[in-house]
Amino acid sequence: MPLPFPLLDAHLAITGKPLSPEVRTRLEAYAKFVETELEPVTYEVDRRARPYLSHHDTLGGDPEEVVLNAAHRAALQKIYQTGISTGPAEGRHPWWETFALGFLTTDVGCFCSATVTMATVFSLVKYGTEELKAKFLPTLLENGAARQGATWATEAQGGSDLGSNRARAKPTGEGGRFLLNGEKYFCSNVGAEFAVVTARPEGAPEGPKGLRLFFVPAKREKGGPNWKIRRLKEKLGTTSVPTGEVSLIDTEGYQLGTDQEGLYPTMEMLNVSRVCNAMGSAGVLYRALQVAMEHTRAREAFGRPLIDHPLMAVDLARLATEAETAGLLAFEPAFAFDAVWKDRPARTPGFLLFRYATHAAKLVTADQAVRGACATMEIFGGPGYLEEFPVAKLVRDALVVPVWEGGANRQSLDAWEVSVRAHPENAWLEQAAKVRDRADLPEGVQGFLERRLQAAQDPVGGELAARSKLQAISELRQMTLLARLAEGAGSGGRSSPEAQRARAFAEIFAVMRDGGPGSIVPMVMVANLLSAI
Ligand SMILES: Cc1cc2nc3c(=O)[nH]c(=O)nc-3n(C[C@H](O)[C@H](O)[C@H](O)COP(=O)(O)OP(=O)(O)OC[C@H]3O[C@@H](n4cnc5c(N)ncnc54)[C@H](O)[C@@H]3O)c2cc1C
Repeated sequence: MPLPFPLLDAHLAITGKPLSPEVRTRLEAYAKFVETELEPVTYEVDRRARPYLSHHDTLGGDPEEVVLNAAHRAALQKIYQTGISTGPAEGRHPWWETFALGFLTTDVGCFCSATVTMATVFSLVKYGTEELKAKFLPTLLENGAARQGATWATEAQGGSDLGSNRARAKPTGEGGRFLLNGEKYFCSNVGAEFAVVTARPEGAPEGPKGLRLFFVPAKREKGGPNWKIRRLKEKLGTTSVPTGEVSLIDTEGYQLGTDQEGLYPTMEMLNVSRVCNAMGSAGVLYRALQVAMEHTRAREAFGRPLIDHPLMAVDLARLATEAETAGLLAFEPAFAFDAVWKDRPARTPGFLLFRYATHAAKLVTADQAVRGACATMEIFGGPGYLEEFPVAKLVRDALVVPVWEGGANRQSLDAWEVSVRAHPENAWLEQAAKVRDRADLPEGVQGFLERRLQAAQDPVGGELAARSKLQAISELRQMTLLARLAEGAGSGGRSSPEAQRARAFAEIFAVMRDGGPGSIVPMVMVANLLSAI
């Protein structure tokens, strides 16, 4: 089965990480597993076998257990066995391959479980003491056992505003252990064996500066549950990951990072999840494109397949362009992370560009995923609205990606903060200006680059401009990457099929973003594009 990403090879080549035959085989095998095994299971879970909280055992006890259907558990185990959450920590494969596995997972709920496990492993490896790692890492890395992690920061009074956290941590004076007390309001993967949890140590300042991250096992040192699950949430989608509310009651935890590092471990844990959010958004778009292509080839209206009607072909070309540009941007922080993930303090120029790329990718791809999933529902017509076809779940799942890990405004404000400090985005602007100055780009593409460069350099700044600037710079980056591919970078030159496809994507992207919804996309571009999907 081919990988669902026509330009991946070329993009990998321009970033200097060509796909080796072994990696290709691994990714293709995983994509096949997702299509043939995981997807049927997650649809069944969604419709008939959702996780539930059990309070009983046969001996009359009242243990809390999040129960997953057996097929669901088995599928999750297969996901973990790829090393999706542990591969980089084990030295099995690089971070970008882990993120690529996430992109291929397509079920947002299962990818969420893998993401929070990955972020837990990352936090322990980077910020745990040697003693803590020796105690817990071997168990967490047991792939066969599929140990899971979780990341709990949000409380009822605040998600974006983490400084409003009320959970407290008190040192016990024994083995670096703290006792945590408080309530966590959104706790995904709540049946996990380990979690990383935010809390404020006694005497630490109020606000974000006083917040620390703690590594928390589900079982206490002397046995027994280390937190109480109050209930599972009833959610619109992502039903394959249980999300609950958790009470921390003298919960044993271990601080990650030093007091000087303060909020950094928490922010870095969040950034890993944001990269996953962007990869997951691109994955949703590719799945949407795949089912839309299948449906419009099979379904006839007015005597011919839907795909052969010009306006439907334009809809499909737009969807393909959303998928491609989302994928390209999502891979930016995914590729960048390998070089910077161990940076401590996480303030090197490379790390700051990674951070900026993460906010850009999270902002834009989430919006694209929602737009693309909703467009696919319309492409399907009536069946798109029915639960027995694949699109309804895709839309419900996609709706969470703008919310998770902070909404668009949060990403914009965080990107603005890093921009004011060091302007890491200048590297992107310089590359874009070079690309724009080449004479052989289509007029529409050059105009697009010019307008985004002007918006990026607009002297009007500050909080009010934060979102429009990040949006402009993100789209500028998407177009720069397409333009470089259209010039033949990473492929066999300007006349290669990849370069031709990139050129069509670039022209359609310019029309889509600057021409408004009714703008006319030349049919020749559309035909070029669809013939290659
Ligand atoms: C299904 C699901 C699972 C989740 N799982 C987890 C989990 O496992 N762990 C966890 O910690 N959290 C989890 N969350 C919580 C999620 O990360 C938060 O919902 C998210 O961060 C937003 O926080 P909030 O809900 O408190 O909204 P708010 O912080 O109240 O934000 C509401 C809106 O205001 C905007 N906003 C916030 N600040 C500003 C500002 N300064 N200027 C302008 N606009 C602003 C936001 O962008 C957003 O659009 C989950 C959420 C969902 C829906």
